[in-house]
Amino acid sequence: MGPMKLERLLHSQGFGSRKECRALIRAGRVAVAGQPVEDPFAEIPPEDAVFSVDDEDWRYRAQAYVLLHKPAGHECSHQPQFHPSVFSLLPEPLGTRGVQCVGRLDQDSTGLLLLSDDGQFIHRWSSGKKRVPKVYEVTTAEAVTDEQVATLLAGVQLHDEPAPILAAACERTGEYALRLTVTEGKYHQVKRMVAAAGNHVERLHRTRIGGLDLPADLPAGAWRWLDEADLARLA
Ligand code: URA
Repeated sequence: MGPMKLERLLHSQGFGSRKECRALIRAGRVAVAGQPVEDPFAEIPPEDAVFSVDDEDWRYRAQAYVLLHKPAGHECSHQPQFHPSVFSLLPEPLGTRGVQCVGRLDQDSTGLLLLSDDGQFIHRWSSGKKRVPKVYEVTTAEAVTDEQVATLLAGVQLHDEPAPILAAACERTGEYALRLTVTEGKYHQVKRMVAAAGNHVERLHRTRIGGLDLPADLPAGAWRWLDEADLARLA
């Protein structure tokens, strides 16, 4: 990609309209590679553009791929109804540039959530077609029985589904705990499967999508960019 005017570069990264970006630059709030730049039309090679806005560092990214450790009590929506949005946990430019959730977690579920502004990526990883395994740590209301585990592995019939849905893997990890792997992405899928097996989900925490784990050192509410290695691990 050839050089890009600074106003266009900032706009592409979610810093507002072109006009707002010009104003930011003219106000002296933008630096590129550590040097203040006040000319909105300065030509910047985007690949190696490291810039800061109000002293916060950014790097140009053609698309945004983000991993969030979703805390409980947040909705996966830009227009949340009852709880704060997960987007309130991310810097504003990410929302502005159109980052969306890749599949959803319920407001009370926690763990690994991917977000992106790459439409193909979102479709690829959120449509159930690809059958990507997703691993959930489930805390149950009742003690987990062998029969419940066997039922989940054999498949449960959910309302409105033509065929039984099988857990790709399921093991008891504690008296009130299950590790469940599913490959679809149906509405409230894990809660409905566990209910159909005769138990009830108290807490739900996603730890893995494909080969990508929730990083152990990422606290609830924190996020980070996905790098090439992470994206390759997903596949
Ligand atoms: N299944 C559910 O029931 N809820 C989630 O948040 C994710 C999977």
